[in-house]
Amino acid sequence: MTIFSIRKFGDPVLRQPAKKIEASDKELEQLVASMAETMYAAPGLGLAANQIGILKQVFVFDEGSGLMAYMNPEIIEAEGEIEEDEGCLSVASIQVPVKRYEKIKVRAQTLDGEEHIIEAEGFTARILQHEIDHLNGKIILDRLSETDRRRAIQEFHEKEGLL
Ligand code: ZN
Repeated sequence: MTIFSIRKFGDPVLRQPAKKIEASDKELEQLVASMAETMYAAPGLGLAANQIGILKQVFVFDEGSGLMAYMNPEIIEAEGEIEEDEGCLSVASIQVPVKRYEKIKVRAQTLDGEEHIIEAEGFTARILQHEIDHLNGKIILDRLSETDRRRAIQEFHEKEGLL
């Protein structure tokens, strides 16, 4: 297993949509194991393949009840809206208020190719939407108002020692 370096805001790979995975194989299993290791080492609650520079639709997350990995996720139902602070390893974990659906249904595949319908709400729903955004080439900064976005970018630069 490998601990990857996490791509940061400014890296174009975070803005590119990931490609659908046709079938899982040994290579994908190894990638997922390394993504999990990278996520735990960070530490973070979720990690999408884009964040380590790989444009495949796969992500891992663990909100405290064990490691989950899904590929080709798609939101098929959504309701409600809630704004809460959220952070991202690619944006130096700074906390910004992000609006998300409160409840979602996601269709995704596990690594063994089984299709799952995941029903999630609250925090879990937030993590899933965050990771699905990554796979679509979106990051939390894209979901902020212009003012919040500018402030977040400044904070990011300060944290990264770029200012
Ligand atoms: Zn993120």
